[in-house]
Amino acid sequence: MKLRVDRDKCVGHGRCYALASDVFGEDECGHCLITCEVIPPALEQQARAGVDNCPEQAIEIVVDVA
Ligand code: SF4
Repeated sequence: MKLRVDRDKCVGHGRCYALASDVFGEDECGHCLITCEVIPPALEQQARAGVDNCPEQAIEIVVDVA
């Protein structure tokens, strides 16, 4: 699985990295950073939680092997 964050949509709520801290981090402004280029299978559930809970729908799954 690979993810992409739309930097124009992300406003820095922090829900993604609060819910899925192994997959998402924050930059100096609180905006989302994806911590790994390819999400390992063990972290896919966390990744989906972050995608599903972003109020701005700023996180997109670009490759989903499931
Ligand atoms: S939850 Fe969405 S808007 Fe908030 S920091 Fe994460 S990607 Fe950005």
